[in-house]
Amino acid sequence: MFKKILVANRGEIALRIQRACRELGVKAVMVYSEADRDAKYVKLADEAVCIGPPPSALSYLNMPAIISAAEVTDAEAIHPGYGFLSENADFAERVEKSGFVFIGPTPEAIRTMGDKVAAKQAMIRAGVPCVPGSEGALPDDAAEVKRIARAIGYPVIVKAAGGGGGRGMRVVHTEAALLHAVQTTKAEAGAAFGNPEVYLEKFLQNPRHIEIQVLADNYRNAVYLHERDCSMQRRHQKVIEEAPAPGIARRLIERIGDRCAAACKKIGYRGAGTFEFLYENGEFYFIEMNTRVQVEHPVTEAVTGIDIVRQQIAIAAGEKLPFTQRQIELRGHAIECRINAEDPYKFTPSPGRISAWHAPGGPGVRVDSHIYTHYMVPPNYDSMIGKIIAHGDTREQALARMRSALSETVIEGIKTNIALHREIMVDANFEAGGTNIHYLEAWLAQRER
Ligand code: ADP
Repeated sequence: MFKKILVANRGEIALRIQRACRELGVKAVMVYSEADRDAKYVKLADEAVCIGPPPSALSYLNMPAIISAAEVTDAEAIHPGYGFLSENADFAERVEKSGFVFIGPTPEAIRTMGDKVAAKQAMIRAGVPCVPGSEGALPDDAAEVKRIARAIGYPVIVKAAGGGGGRGMRVVHTEAALLHAVQTTKAEAGAAFGNPEVYLEKFLQNPRHIEIQVLADNYRNAVYLHERDCSMQRRHQKVIEEAPAPGIARRLIERIGDRCAAACKKIGYRGAGTFEFLYENGEFYFIEMNTRVQVEHPVTEAVTGIDIVRQQIAIAAGEKLPFTQRQIELRGHAIECRINAEDPYKFTPSPGRISAWHAPGGPGVRVDSHIYTHYMVPPNYDSMIGKIIAHGDTREQALARMRSALSETVIEGIKTNIALHREIMVDANFEAGGTNIHYLEAWLAQRER
């Protein structure tokens, strides 16, 4: 096992990784921007290094600053968390070239999966079912683009090969709108992701977002930790996640899970990863792979009893997976609510000082958050300030525990979306389970103020 790890992230995930290190008896070096000087995990840190001013480009995305922080503190490995540099193949490569272990997959795997066109091709080869679409990036020839779209059948979705975070996508319903949409998405993708390549996919009308968590070690062992349902989204961003997915037969999950684990072996994947699928009419369609720990990992931890962050670290340290697929059992149901510092109606960010914070508790309730009373939520980063996870023997119990947890939670001084979560947790359709990816947006559109 490592003696010391550098955590190249901030916020709740930095604290989460610090906790895993503590449990493993590994020292954790925390890095922070000037805006995060007062963060809880910085105060709790064995060692902490300031890596730059508030803007991410100058701090959490500043590769030389992070690598020199690892050098001066004698860390052996770097955990990238999620977001920031976590899916940056060049960073992974520089970390390894500088003599540190990157806690994640190989740079090559990150590179392939980071290009959605390359990822889809790799998945097709590995036998993972994909959304019908163009074979690779779209050509320049307008007539050919129209032909491809017609063959797929409208509506189609134009997606950027380098897209992420719900950006770089456009739905097209008619041929008349196609070429303009392709051009606009290309231009945006070139500017935003440095890669103007786009591809076409069939736009599935009412799918659910179901994803499979995998873990793979360096010895060709790979397992799947079952699924998460992340269909409750706003603007392609997840708001609520749960495990298992309501109403999907276990044998279907096992079948797709086996495919994912087999694909990991085939592509030589290592570490934690997530295969994201759209699920419609009993079929799974791969959309992308995330090569890092995800925000919603705690619901899987709750139902499998497996500590995903600990496994990431152990795998990077060269340990074998300590369990086989058959030893992975599901226990009950878990739901996660993402707590954002934002207006619960208009969704505008609401940074500022927290004047009061009362965390919920009780059986089956987990809170992953770095906030505290008097903590200043900086305006520079993502608005997510924590997550509440409720676990129960049944979905009903998990829901009841979540309602109770949300009713206990107090965050004053800034606006949060807790009011939104309270409303959704008593919505009859959400309670019934199995809502699709459009449900939340439709619900918000007709919500009574
Ligand atoms: P990102 O990397 O930006 O998260 P994804 O490819 O994972 O992009 O897609 C994000 C979300 O966009 C999905 O969860 C789904 O809601 C929607 N989406 C993507 N592809 C399709 C599709 N072919 N049909 C319908 N919805 C889609």
